[in-house]
Amino acid sequence: MILPPATLGMLGGGQLGRYFVMAAHRLGYKVVVLDPDPASIAGAAADHHIVASYNDQAALHDLASRCEAISCEFENVPATALALLEQYQPVRPGASAVRICQDRREEKAFLCRADIPVALYLALLPEEPIPAQASELFPAILKTAREGYDGKGQWQVSGLDELATVLAASGVPCVLEKRLALEGEFALTLARSPSGAISALPLVQNWHSGGILDQTRSPANVPTLESEAKAIAERLIAALDYVGVLTVEFFLVEGRLLVNELAPRPHNSGHPSIDNAACSQFELQVRALCDLPLPDQIAVRPALLINLLGDLWQHGTPDWATLLALPGLHLHLYGKGEPRPGRKMGHITVTGDDWSTVEETCSKARQLLGLAPPR
Ligand code: ADP
Ligand code: MG
Repeated sequence: MILPPATLGMLGGGQLGRYFVMAAHRLGYKVVVLDPDPASIAGAAADHHIVASYNDQAALHDLASRCEAISCEFENVPATALALLEQYQPVRPGASAVRICQDRREEKAFLCRADIPVALYLALLPEEPIPAQASELFPAILKTAREGYDGKGQWQVSGLDELATVLAASGVPCVLEKRLALEGEFALTLARSPSGAISALPLVQNWHSGGILDQTRSPANVPTLESEAKAIAERLIAALDYVGVLTVEFFLVEGRLLVNELAPRPHNSGHPSIDNAACSQFELQVRALCDLPLPDQIAVRPALLINLLGDLWQHGTPDWATLLALPGLHLHLYGKGEPRPGRKMGHITVTGDDWSTVEETCSKARQLLGLAPPR
């Protein structure tokens, strides 16, 4: 067990890293963040910020020498960097799990090996001929195998000619996925400690807009889906020999859960847990990293989350004062610089004792922000 006031390491310096810093600080730990951006918002909150690329060997050694255990906040940290750090300190999740989650081809192959249902797909390389089976997947979505997020690196394609053009233009390995008629999107965030304890947040329901998370309902309150999702997630955690926080994104299609993708970390849709749960996803991340006890049950109150994207700043700063006057509304701003369209600047979580109050406050907040109801 790694006890406070030990120093913990965090690879990545965005909002997820920033919340990790806050959760660790609350428990009395110190945190060193490694992130190449001098303006990193997690770096600013941390006890020390190493400004360096994730491939910088000297910086990785510096991080390892300052910390007793290391975690990451995004899956695009090179697996080689995690493997190097593993030689010196516990890294949770480890390089082998992150390597799978950072490449859609590896991830899908892993899910298929584990006998978990996924959308029909094909792995494609830009320099190779497109196999005939591709025509069975249209209408389809072409996704870059690596580095995609918030719908970036994705293209809707409806035929072979269009696919050939888009694949060639991408110039990178991709996955072609059948576009499914989604009956809903869900996510489950859970943690496993080195001792083998597992703790899960409730299943949440998600609504996306333009490939970016728009709204989350926590808990989803669909007991049959929740137990199915938990069973799948626990199978995945075992198959990956996983330690740390894992988020599984699900699609509901014809009443059945398919796994969309895995995130080896806390997740945007887990943010309600900061305000509605007895233990947040970031506290789970700290506890799992340090092998502290994990809670058996995590009690939650009804909550709805609305993401605040940079688009909202188009006509000036949103009216925070009016929003903050709404009861049960928790405003989170991440302290990022420029509010670019599509950039996640913050979120709102509305909590309450019952769903009707939460829904009413949430729709008032959406109206004030000029946001249409989620689709
Ligand atoms: P990202 O890494 O950007 O989150 P995802 O693969 O999760 O990429 O895709 C983002 C969103 O796009 C999903 O949450 C879903 O709304 C939509 N989407 C992705 N794949 C499919 C699909 N096969 N069928 C229908 N919608 C999809
Ligand atoms: Mg996703």
